[in-house]
Amino acid sequence: MTLYLKYRPQTIGELDSTSAREGLKKIIASGKIPHALLFSGPKGIGKTSAARILAKAINCEKPGKSGEPCNRCMQCEAVTKGNSLDVIEMDAASNRGIDDIRSLREAVKLSPVSAKTKVYVVDEAHMLTLEAANAFLKTLEEPPSHVVFILATTNPEKLIPTVRSRLTNIVFTKASLPEIKRLLSRVAKGEKWKVDDEAFDVVALAADGSFRDAIKIIEQMMVGETELSQEKARSFVTQNKTITAKQYIEIIAKKDIKAIIEELEAMINKGGSVRELIDGMIASLHESLLAKLGVGKTDAFDYLIRNESVSLIEVLMVAQKKYSDTPLPQLSLEMELIAWKQKTGQDKPVVSVVKNTKPRDKVTNGHSEDVVANGNVDLKFESDVWQKVLSQVRQKNVSVEALLRSSKPLDFDGKNLRLGVYYKFHKERLEADVYRKTLEDILTSVVGSPVRVVCILTDQPKKKVIGGIKKTGNALTENTDIDIMEAAKEIFGS
Ligand SMILES: [Zn+2]
Repeated sequence: MTLYLKYRPQTIGELDSTSAREGLKKIIASGKIPHALLFSGPKGIGKTSAARILAKAINCEKPGKSGEPCNRCMQCEAVTKGNSLDVIEMDAASNRGIDDIRSLREAVKLSPVSAKTKVYVVDEAHMLTLEAANAFLKTLEEPPSHVVFILATTNPEKLIPTVRSRLTNIVFTKASLPEIKRLLSRVAKGEKWKVDDEAFDVVALAADGSFRDAIKIIEQMMVGETELSQEKARSFVTQNKTITAKQYIEIIAKKDIKAIIEELEAMINKGGSVRELIDGMIASLHESLLAKLGVGKTDAFDYLIRNESVSLIEVLMVAQKKYSDTPLPQLSLEMELIAWKQKTGQDKPVVSVVKNTKPRDKVTNGHSEDVVANGNVDLKFESDVWQKVLSQVRQKNVSVEALLRSSKPLDFDGKNLRLGVYYKFHKERLEADVYRKTLEDILTSVVGSPVRVVCILTDQPKKKVIGGIKKTGNALTENTDIDIMEAAKEIFGS
């Protein structure tokens, strides 16, 4: 038996989550158990344990004064052993359809076998389909008097409001450090371990608000040991640190399938959760996407162009959806990432080869000397590439970026970028080794193969004429930016 099961709380007083303990005590003390309850809170916080305790308290033959279950009568023992016919646990992640709820509605009508009350514990309740949740609502509206429903969920906001409004909510807040330490001390005492108080701190921190993770971590640390010092605990945690969402996105962006699979496998072997990894990546990418759009703070993934971020978020959402239906935890994520790599293609992260069919003279604003003999294979960027180059240049060297603002990309054949520069002085600066190298290095890293820059003197683009009226105002730089971006779009594709 794992320690988590061995030390599972058996009474309300033993619940480590203070918020849940207080909430349930109040309900029991009132003597009125609602017909439908919702236990909401993060995973590994003891929602299922609490549901079982409440089920025992409801049916106990000899409850204590405070309403606590005795844990000795037939009803209590059956629940503890998991073989009660009247306390039914079901996982909504795997029984989420309308048919599952229809059979549940039939079963609910039958009287309990030996207890006073039938208790249904529905785990991951937010996974019910909309159709199933609506069917379930009818039962919640007119529940038979011999039935109590306890719905548990990590995502209460995903439950439909009509269902949620029928439920009495008990909120399980993320476990605090003292709460986790309380649990760990109980386990250490029971197992006769000698554990430094500071070592408890290390474990509690690593558990990140989850009672289950805390026990899992200390159980691994204590294999073949009876004592635990702070140093030992710390070195264990460092060694077993699993990959973060941010680090994994970096690996995905390199599109190396072997590394993508191996890192995921390693994370699972260290006890990491794929579901949490997916959730973490979606949250980080969303934040980065907002930054790319000019909303919010710093962009943690400036090496991803906007389209890549969007497509990655989409892919991760599909993996998240399919997660519960696949037999292996990593399967949905692996499959979706492999498909994503194939779709976005190639070893070079951001470019794809296409035939260029656009007439080139359009780009050059009538300057025939700028026209390059074409019709051969052109490398076409996805949009945003020039923007990405500019933003990376800005971080490395502000002067180069300023110079690029008085120039525009004219043409790109996969190896050579022809840059039209408006002033002779600027052209000379850009051709200086140190500046050119900065630009070429960044272009090379963005494109994924060596790029050479050739500067050509060219006329400044004319101001935009809209509806025959010349745009006025002093937004000169802004207009120039728009022109450059438009030129880049035409050359690099959109
Ligand atoms: Zn009992």
